[in-house]
Amino acid sequence: MSGGITRIAPESIISELTNWTIEAKSWYNDGWTRQHYQNQLDRIFSHVDKMRMSREELEMEEEKAKWVCTECGKSTFDTDYDYLVSTTMHLGCQLELEKDEKFRMTEEDKLTI
Ligand SMILES: [Zn+2]
Repeated sequence: MSGGITRIAPESIISELTNWTIEAKSWYNDGWTRQHYQNQLDRIFSHVDKMRMSREELEMEEEKAKWVCTECGKSTFDTDYDYLVSTTMHLGCQLELEKDEKFRMTEEDKLTI
């Protein structure tokens, strides 16, 4: 940054993003090229979304990222409390885990008899 003066005019950024959008949608490009431009756009959009978030929204995002089930890897954030063992374990996943452990234990019992 030189003295807080904008180095790239908004028109240039808009023009470039418009070109990327055209490339991402053009059937003259192969799948890889279209995907490449779409990925670039997605990165920009996601960055701009974050820039527009308030501090509270950013803190919420950070908190949300911690709410992940250690068993299935999916988010527990929007799951009702009734269906959670903890913020990192779905009730359903815990029950599956216990079922597996019980099965394993009975199989081990059979072996020791
Ligand atoms: Zn789970």
